[in-house]
Amino acid sequence: MKRIGFIGLGIMGAAMASHLMDAGYELTVYNRTKAKADALVAAGAHYCDSPAACAHGQDAVITIVGYPKDVEEVYLGAEGILHSLDAGAYTADMTTSSPALAERIYAEAKKRGIHALDAPVTGGDMGARNATLNILVGGDEDAFLAMQPVFAAMGKNIIYEGPAGAGQKTKAANQIAIAGALAGACEAFAYARAAGLDVEKVFASISGGAAASFQMSNMVRMALDGNFNPGFMIKHFVKDMTIGAETGREYGIDLPVLEQVLHEARALEERGGGADGTQSLLKYYA
Ligand code: NAP
Repeated sequence: MKRIGFIGLGIMGAAMASHLMDAGYELTVYNRTKAKADALVAAGAHYCDSPAACAHGQDAVITIVGYPKDVEEVYLGAEGILHSLDAGAYTADMTTSSPALAERIYAEAKKRGIHALDAPVTGGDMGARNATLNILVGGDEDAFLAMQPVFAAMGKNIIYEGPAGAGQKTKAANQIAIAGALAGACEAFAYARAAGLDVEKVFASISGGAAASFQMSNMVRMALDGNFNPGFMIKHFVKDMTIGAETGREYGIDLPVLEQVLHEARALEERGGGADGTQSLLKYYA
């Protein structure tokens, strides 16, 4: 596997694509806003003007776009990659998307002899920059094994979760856990402020003990510093929690904490905060 098409060069994709180039893969890239490819093109990547053109002749295509509708367009649309990939090629969708769509893409790809994986990631923008992502892979296990070296250039903890859609289901479980951890940490600091405490002393007191979490140490820390720039945007958090809530209902499970945090994040999005980072959940309580 030498030639890779890479589609989606946002916060996550641009860093991930650069690691693939550093690992020696020959990269062809495509992004809706072309300017986001400039740095990669300057470093030697080829640019193509559509998903289909980007996928043509590649051994594998990686996608990390925004929403399920973007994934659908990029794979199954008129200019989609499944129309131009050769039989025997591989795809890995690393977008956080819907399990049902991952299953549909797998089935459509299989008809064409293409090996499709769903491979969403956790570890955030920091994980993308440092090539330390957790990669949660669904699809056929032999396709997973064939793509392992490609994933290893972008991540550290790379796990085969099961058949098509299992990667996306694992990612939904991750987002459910994040919703509770982030909201819990935000509530603690909203309470501390309301109680008239010195929030810095509270942070120093509780962020290393039994209440310690990534969400508290990183996301709430940024919010307390007044930094709401996105590593992970509220609008994508809403998308992910909606996937969790909808599939949870399908599986017959109540997810009351997730539903509450989804309501809070939607309220922030409706107020125009969709492009802020998830640490802005603290604003909901302010
Ligand atoms: P982002 O900065 O918005 O990047 C998405 C990129 O995909 C954008 O550059 C966008 O183009 C491009 N794109 C969207 N639809 C496209 C299409 N139809 N054709 C071509 N390009 C398209 O978002 P991100 O933070 O990198 O996140 C990407 C995905 O990873 C999301 O599903 C997100 O939930 C997930 N994720 C994010 C994080 C994180 O911490 N940021 C962590 C794990 C997973 P434009 O430049 O034109 O908008």
